[in-house]
This record gives sequence, C-alpha cells and structure tokens, in this order.
Amino acid sequence: MATITEPKCKLCRREGVKLFLKGVRCETAKCGVSKRNYPPGERHWRRGKPSEYGAQLREKQKVRRMYGVLERTFKNYYAKATKTKGATGVALLIRLETRIDNVLYRACFGASRRQARMLVGHKHVAVNGKRVNRAGYQVSAGDVITVEEGSLVIVRTNAAEVAKARTIPAWLEVEPEAGKITVAQMPRREDIPEAIQEQLIVELYGK
Ligand code: SF4
Repeated sequence: MATITEPKCKLCRREGVKLFLKGVRCETAKCGVSKRNYPPGERHWRRGKPSEYGAQLREKQKVRRMYGVLERTFKNYYAKATKTKGATGVALLIRLETRIDNVLYRACFGASRRQARMLVGHKHVAVNGKRVNRAGYQVSAGDVITVEEGSLVIVRTNAAEVAKARTIPAWLEVEPEAGKITVAQMPRREDIPEAIQEQLIVELYGK
C-alpha cells in the first residue's frame, strides 16, 4: 500500500487549507493551519501571488493530498475521467469520492482517510460480503460495506468522536453499531463539501 509520507500538517500549511489528514486533532485548536497559517519554511514571506500555472499546480496537489493518492494514481483517474460523459473535473472528483477509503472516512468509520485506508489494507472491510484490500476500490450505488467484528470498536469510537464535527453525506446510509454502510446513490458534485476548483486541475492536465 503506497502512502504519502511527508509531515501532514506541513502539507496543509503548504496548501493554505485544512486537508484533514490527522483525524480528531484537525478539528481542534492544535491544528497546524489554525496555529500557523503560512507556508512552511523560513522564506514564506517572500512568496508572492502564484502564476496561473502555480495556482493550477497547487489545486491539483491540494486535492491529491487531501484524498491521499499518489501522482500516478491521480493521473490515472484523470485519464479515466476524460473518457466519462459530462464535465471531466466533476468525473475526476467523483472517482476520488467513491474510493472505499474515502467512503469509510465520510461515514466517520475512520478518523482520517489514512486510518480508513488501514482498515482496508488490513482486510477488515468487505463489499457485498466479499473482502476488499485495495484502498482505491471503487464503490457503486447499492453496494453494502461492512467492517469485520474485530475492528468494530475502532469504528464505534470514531463514529462517536469524529461524527460530532462532521456531517455524514446523504448518499451514504450509515449504521455505526453494525459497522455497515450502504451506498444509497452515487455522490454528486454538491455532495463534496471541500472548496475545490476542479477546473484548474483540468486546465493543468489539459496543457
Ligand atoms: Fe492539516 Fe489536520 Fe494538521 Fe490541521 S491538524 S494542519 S487539518 S493535518
């Protein structure tokens, strides 16, 4: 399982927004962005307004890091999105949104996407009764996701703690006590709460 290993709060500070990479801490005053809302590094004060390319690159990096995917995976999603009907940027976001690690995160079964990814990597998650160990597994409408008995304690703790600060999206039906999520429908663009300018990413890759 490939992971991004750079210090997480630095990634957020670099992008200037919360990417929610550390679970409960991200909701507290200890959040790196809340404490030091400027880019990491001593020379941050010299940085001016980004160029058009710089803005496109930063938007892509922000989204890629938020969802915790590697560059080649992200490019792959983009290539598939270009072959999908409708707006490419939206199709890209929907692909990211329907990764199983993200679904577990949105359902508050994982405090962070990384923790959700670990649940999958350790083979504690099944889709329609079949065990899944790929964090990038794409869910579809009607899928039923279950977490195995041994990991239910993590799920229930997160559901109690994390859900206080997050809203579970309407496209998921969640039963934390049973460790069960039903994908009621595919997510729409407006179901993604983060401020993302996907058009910048399309412009970047479309060059
Ligand atoms: Fe980002 Fe979370 Fe660190 Fe805040 S606490 S900077 S949201 S990883």
